[in-house]
Amino acid sequence: MDTLSKVVSLCKKRGFIFQSSEIYGGVKSLYDFGHLGFLLKENLKEFWKLQMLFEEFPIFFIDGALMLPYRVVKASGHIDSFVDPLVDCKKCKHRFRPDKVEKELGVLKCPVCGSDELSDTRFFNLMFRTNLGPIDPLIELLNSSSEKIGQDTESIFRRIAEQSVYLRPETAQNIFVQFPNISRAYPTKLPFGVAQIGRAFRNEITTERFLFRVAEFDQMELEFFIDPDQESALFKVWQEKRMTWWRKILNNPEHLRLRFYDKSELAHYASACVDVEYKFPWGFDEVEGIACRTDYDLLAHQEASGKEFFVLNTTTDMRQVKVRPWVIEPSCGLTRAVLAVLLDAYSELEGRSADGEEKVRVVLRLKPFLSPIKVAVFPLVKHEDLISLAKEVFHSFRRHRIISFYDESGSIGKRYSKQDEIGTPFCVTIDFQSLEDKTVTVRDRDTAEQQRIRVEDLISFITPCIEMPI
Ligand code: ATP
Repeated sequence: MDTLSKVVSLCKKRGFIFQSSEIYGGVKSLYDFGHLGFLLKENLKEFWKLQMLFEEFPIFFIDGALMLPYRVVKASGHIDSFVDPLVDCKKCKHRFRPDKVEKELGVLKCPVCGSDELSDTRFFNLMFRTNLGPIDPLIELLNSSSEKIGQDTESIFRRIAEQSVYLRPETAQNIFVQFPNISRAYPTKLPFGVAQIGRAFRNEITTERFLFRVAEFDQMELEFFIDPDQESALFKVWQEKRMTWWRKILNNPEHLRLRFYDKSELAHYASACVDVEYKFPWGFDEVEGIACRTDYDLLAHQEASGKEFFVLNTTTDMRQVKVRPWVIEPSCGLTRAVLAVLLDAYSELEGRSADGEEKVRVVLRLKPFLSPIKVAVFPLVKHEDLISLAKEVFHSFRRHRIISFYDESGSIGKRYSKQDEIGTPFCVTIDFQSLEDKTVTVRDRDTAEQQRIRVEDLISFITPCIEMPI
């Protein structure tokens, strides 16, 4: 089995991530996060949030609505330009994105059957459209008089589009649209940032590779507003800052690289772009895009809304001038980061079972600050006194807000392997010696080595090992 398949099945077996609606056959592009997946994702979020909150520059957060009205996505260019090319294989009917296939295979042919009998390229908008309020424009249209139905199809589609709302295809647009309010509420000098963590939606043509390309995903985006003169210097600053963040969440930082875009690859809003890429099992692929968006978005919304988008800047001769900022946008895919972190952490180490047999140990070598459970507490055997001390230790972790797990079921070896598989960095076992000298064994996930620690020293031993490295 390849590593991706192993990670997918581990995620299901141990409760990190499940296919959505699995009992009804499942939906390929949707996933539900279980308890452990949720906690892992929350830790990544927290780590990103801390980077932003404690930056040298002022950064404010917003938490915007998921639905955007037509006027926003029309002004932002998403109605006209947020499209992907689509090709059908005439032989096996597989539908795919020709640009991705050509990049991967070097030639344009069906990635399933290899045929080069393909349809012409069509373009397809990636946004999900829905209606807000009791009136569904589609039903309205069907119920309206035959004269109206007789309109040309283009104007029918336009009317439906204009009366619809759209699930946001990126978190960024809420920030741009709220710029006049934000800059008034928190008046500050350039540069400053507005950050957001939240769900984005794309009706992708091909959904693939587990969490890599899905229809619903989380993004952590920063819109960093700058003086236009600062673009090139701050573009570099953010490349370095974001690479530092990524290096801290992975065991193998050498699996990261930056890929600069050719002019021909740039999105409709960008003047320059670089991707942070991670070495997935299928090769290097994007986990974050860092784009220079100039003042494209603020200008577009200014023109469409008639509102002014500016900050007041003081010139060297102390005059106040209105400046429409430019934007640098580090846009990190949180869902893809979860996948990268899981793949990076998955390892199979030589080990021995409880009865001494050699076997492969699956260990999820997550950085301890990302691990969903920080410490597991076990009584060695089911003995009343051991259980009582183990519960006391478990509750003291809880009192210190250290996420811990108590387990007294099955052999100690099995309990260790379960925790190794979910990436718990420490297992604390209470044995008969503990009753005599108030020491316990602390087992390290990665080395399987154990050391005896006094119960009263446990919190101060574990706390520094699980802290976020900001
Ligand atoms: P791709 O080229 O892979 O489609 P993109 O360049 O369109 O990605 P951006 O618009 O730059 O992606 O979005 C920023 C980040 O959001 C990406 O780097 C990625 O991590 C994440 N992302 C984008 N689309 C998806 C998706 N369908 N599923 C999961 N994550 C996604």
